[in-house]
Amino acid sequence: MAFDIDMIKGVYAKMAERVDKAREVTGKPLTLSEKILYSHLWDGNPTKAFTRAKDYVDFAPDRIACQDATAQMALLQFMQAGKPQVAVPTTVHCDHLIQAKSGAAADLKSANSTSAEVFDFLESVSNKYGIGFWKPGAGIIHQVVLENYAFPGGMMIGTDSHTVNAGGLGMVAIGVGGADAVDVMAGMAWELKFPKLIGVKLTGNISGWTSAKDVILKVAGILTVKGGTGAIIEYFGEGAKNLSCTGKGTICNMGAEVGATTSTFGYDDSMERYLRATDRSDIADEANKVREYLTADPEVYDNPDNYFDELIEINLDELRPHLNGPFTPDLATPVGELGVKARENNWPINVDWGLIGSCTNSSYEDLTRAASIAKQAITKNIKPKSDFGINPGSEQIRFTAERDGLLQIFEDLGATVFTNACGPCIGQWDRSDMKGDEKNTIVHSFNRNFSKRADGNPNTHAFVGSPEMVAAIAISGKLDFDPMNDTLINEDGEEVMLDEPMGIELPVKGFEVEDAGYLAPREDGSSVDVKVAKDSERLQLLEPFEPITPDELQGVKLLIKAFGKCTTDHISMAGPWLRFRGHLDNIANNTLIGAVNAYNKKTNFVKSQLTGEYGGVPDVQRTYKAKGIKTIVVGDHNYGEGSSREHAAMQPRFLGVAAVLVKSFARIHETNLKKQGMLGLTFANEKDYDLIQEDDTFNFVDIADFAPDKQLTIEVVHGDGSKDSIKANHTYNAAQIGWFNEGSALNVIKRENAA
Ligand code: SF4
Repeated sequence: MAFDIDMIKGVYAKMAERVDKAREVTGKPLTLSEKILYSHLWDGNPTKAFTRAKDYVDFAPDRIACQDATAQMALLQFMQAGKPQVAVPTTVHCDHLIQAKSGAAADLKSANSTSAEVFDFLESVSNKYGIGFWKPGAGIIHQVVLENYAFPGGMMIGTDSHTVNAGGLGMVAIGVGGADAVDVMAGMAWELKFPKLIGVKLTGNISGWTSAKDVILKVAGILTVKGGTGAIIEYFGEGAKNLSCTGKGTICNMGAEVGATTSTFGYDDSMERYLRATDRSDIADEANKVREYLTADPEVYDNPDNYFDELIEINLDELRPHLNGPFTPDLATPVGELGVKARENNWPINVDWGLIGSCTNSSYEDLTRAASIAKQAITKNIKPKSDFGINPGSEQIRFTAERDGLLQIFEDLGATVFTNACGPCIGQWDRSDMKGDEKNTIVHSFNRNFSKRADGNPNTHAFVGSPEMVAAIAISGKLDFDPMNDTLINEDGEEVMLDEPMGIELPVKGFEVEDAGYLAPREDGSSVDVKVAKDSERLQLLEPFEPITPDELQGVKLLIKAFGKCTTDHISMAGPWLRFRGHLDNIANNTLIGAVNAYNKKTNFVKSQLTGEYGGVPDVQRTYKAKGIKTIVVGDHNYGEGSSREHAAMQPRFLGVAAVLVKSFARIHETNLKKQGMLGLTFANEKDYDLIQEDDTFNFVDIADFAPDKQLTIEVVHGDGSKDSIKANHTYNAAQIGWFNEGSALNVIKRENAA
């Protein structure tokens, strides 16, 4: 079910040769991250040293994982590629579309009804194309991956930002947009800018109330939410070796919160123990044979300053437990100092909920540590002041925790055990105890705490901590409670203290599960029908995009000149639109509705050159589409920054936008435009942005000569008939011009497959 040991043996066989070669071409000892990167080059053995933060490099990942919200469009696109099977082992996990409300049984039943068509589609498309399918309730993608698929020295990509969790088992695991995943599923290379490297040296040992979570809460405070951008964070040192494998997973998981490309740890005994406990002794045996390739070279650890772009040192003996928040995961405060800060900032001191679990913190060790605190509420006769919610990371964890009596401890305190799914972590929480947007405080062991993230309420102050600290704070009901120094009054009126948490790294009786929730695909899926109802509101099979012809690029109308920031959220909003992620026509109704019109500074209010009237961007664009008129979007700097969602390129393309002309692009969005067969161009002279007027028409006069490294000339005809001729730069190479000429990258793959 879980993994292909021959594939892993193959990775290790290549690793030795490629790492030795990489040492030769770089002329230096290598970090672990470099070993994994150089041994996964698309072109085979390394022939040159890459420059960090500069060179774009093609890689060949070993695995792909997709979650249910992002998998829909990714797999609809993959179907366009004309391949009988995915080229790389892939799994789909149904975890995001399950609301937390009453408890696991009722909530799962409800999700299976409300999202039945999405789950049926994902199951059938997985079955057809050789993709492993994890049913709703099987667990959260990253916990399931850690338990089943992650392996030391491997490289994987996933259509979710917390794919990085697998770094806990020594992988380079990176969150990507659906378009990137589709490329790899279809057998193409995956491109990444060679990352910078941040080293984190851990000395000492965690003990008492301090946990692995506090390492990353501290790192987040140091690096802030942007400090890891473009970098892999590599942890090492004695302190790292002393952490459990799942604790390492927690640390890597929240690397996403500092913007890191990913985080990883070298292979060690904790990983071996975890592999054996999760029924993967054969991987541990193979990893042991290549142990020296699965950590950095010794010289790196001796002189880390020479090998990392940035170095952080944390002494775990001195590390204190933290609570980070509210509203941002990098606002780090040691627990004993939170009361003062909360009063200064007027954060509500009373805590209404303590939420434990998510992909970040639902290991066996996490649950035992939290349960050891929760149990004291019973033995010391303390009535918990906050509500408890638990969302286990996988059915295997849930089943084992139930068998060992851990869940019962929480249930005895009145906890609601939600489905093994994301639930409150992604706003899928139907919370009944708050009316409207009441100001309130919750603590949770998740990773993100942005405004509205958990319950949609902008006034919910969410603080992130370890599961055991969440349990303690929830029992006290006070944000300023410091379990290391403060007492509580129990039901007998006595002053009592909570003892330090006690954890068990791995279940003594082993993990156990009756139905893990996995469905293996058919060997030959050619006869499987993919289930998409014709009248579905949520799913729509894709039609290949027709190439944009030179004729269509004459008389192009301005749709919108966007002013200021225009992120992928402005181009394709999330929130309530999430439910249409698999239906291009329906989700296209949010196209650019968040972009600010430069002429009136309003959102979703643009002039139609056909009628002279103003309307919503998608509505105006659809009138151009109905008449077969192509349009252009003009934008400012860093257009398309934010998430890598491909919808931000697909929707304009679907509606008939032919070109996007901006001062500068966020690179992933620029690539996504290219993949969809559109023109993504930049002003050769930024000041030309100011020339563009509301009634302008654009003629791409030399588009027939579109070629690499050659500027394009655009004639801009203004409403009064006057004209300007402007130059546009582009970064298309010959293959990408092929995508444009054939309508999309997928059209090219399909043609090549058919040949
Ligand atoms: Fe994302 Fe939260 Fe789900 Fe993890 S539990 S995959 S962070 S939504």
